[in-house]
Amino acid sequence: MTGQGPRLHWATRLPAGRPASLLVRPAAINLLLEEEQFSFTFDPLGRLHGAFYQGRNYRRSLDNRVLAKWPAAEKGQKERRWLAREEARGLVQVAQGLAGQMAAAAADAPPAVAAALASLARWDWAALEADRQRFQQIYTPVGILPPDQYLALVVQATHGCSHNACTFCTFYQDIPFRIKTPEQFRQHVADVLDFFGPAVAMRRSIFLADANALVIPMPRLRALLQGLQPAALPRFAFIDAFHVERKSVADWQELRADGLARVTIGMESGHDPLLRWLNKPGDASDVLDAVTRLKAAGLQTSVIVLLGAGGDRYAQGHVADTVALLNAMPLGRGDLIYFSDFVPQADAPYAGLAAAAGIETLPAAALRGQENAIRAGFVAQNPARPPQFARYDIGEFVY
Ligand code: SF4
Repeated sequence: MTGQGPRLHWATRLPAGRPASLLVRPAAINLLLEEEQFSFTFDPLGRLHGAFYQGRNYRRSLDNRVLAKWPAAEKGQKERRWLAREEARGLVQVAQGLAGQMAAAAADAPPAVAAALASLARWDWAALEADRQRFQQIYTPVGILPPDQYLALVVQATHGCSHNACTFCTFYQDIPFRIKTPEQFRQHVADVLDFFGPAVAMRRSIFLADANALVIPMPRLRALLQGLQPAALPRFAFIDAFHVERKSVADWQELRADGLARVTIGMESGHDPLLRWLNKPGDASDVLDAVTRLKAAGLQTSVIVLLGAGGDRYAQGHVADTVALLNAMPLGRGDLIYFSDFVPQADAPYAGLAAAAGIETLPAAALRGQENAIRAGFVAQNPARPPQFARYDIGEFVY
């Protein structure tokens, strides 16, 4: 056994001599089968969080679904799918079985290891299903987060999106926009903290959800940010560009002082005809104004470019005007430019509008071409402190 601070690594052998170990940290518990290169990760409460098992990666959501990912036959590509319930249950049973074998071999283990193994034993499939129901009573569906926020503690100050009319977006289609009252929000946060318990230690930030939560008027928003726990965690949120200008730079500075660290804007494109066709609120000048205000207030900013939006019809203008808009933005170190591939949604108006207009969806290779062209055309305002490029794959999202 080796121990360092709050981190404890305990090694043992399972039946048939299989070497295994348990890593107990404040933020997670890891069960490792070393020679077989399997690993299972649990949150500090003992709930299965993810696994690498038999060549596949798994992530379990708090509403108890499991996304599996594995390398595709084509080099550099990967495949993924949500497991059927019985498959997800099977994965949980494998984790439980291994934890049980470790517990049987843990008679002389340190108390922290015995406590961690006891916590794993509590979370069988029935307990995780009951937990899913509890989660769904506290949250409306968490539609999407930026990829840098998948390990955030989500608190829903609003539900849905105040615009909810972009033709490609279905994230909040069935959720009418509403702002929680201060009392409702206080109760929600208390319920969230009770639900996570010690598993809050796994969360690295607080995400103020859903879309456009920052439209809440200043006094209410400040009170809400100031009351959030854990107080030390930085706060993040989405907003659409059109709404940023309803707050002054001084307002954004106050929100920064209240812990707001980064704001993410779905800019999609710098091409105004495309933004109009997508029914985005605002235009490219609104996005530039929004980013300029947020940066003037000292906030980190991320912007999302929707590759392939508007298909073949808008491709040229989309790339050229997106490069021009990004180059005009005062983005620097700590800021992110996300590339998100357009993914047609069956129940979004986009497909019907595109078909009626004779617009062809672009193949994946053309989307990579758009990404490469935008990267190549981008010139950071301060080349010594450029923003970072990253992929935003909405199919990877698990909360
Ligand atoms: S503003 Fe964002 S969340 Fe709202 S409908 Fe448009 S893309 Fe969807």
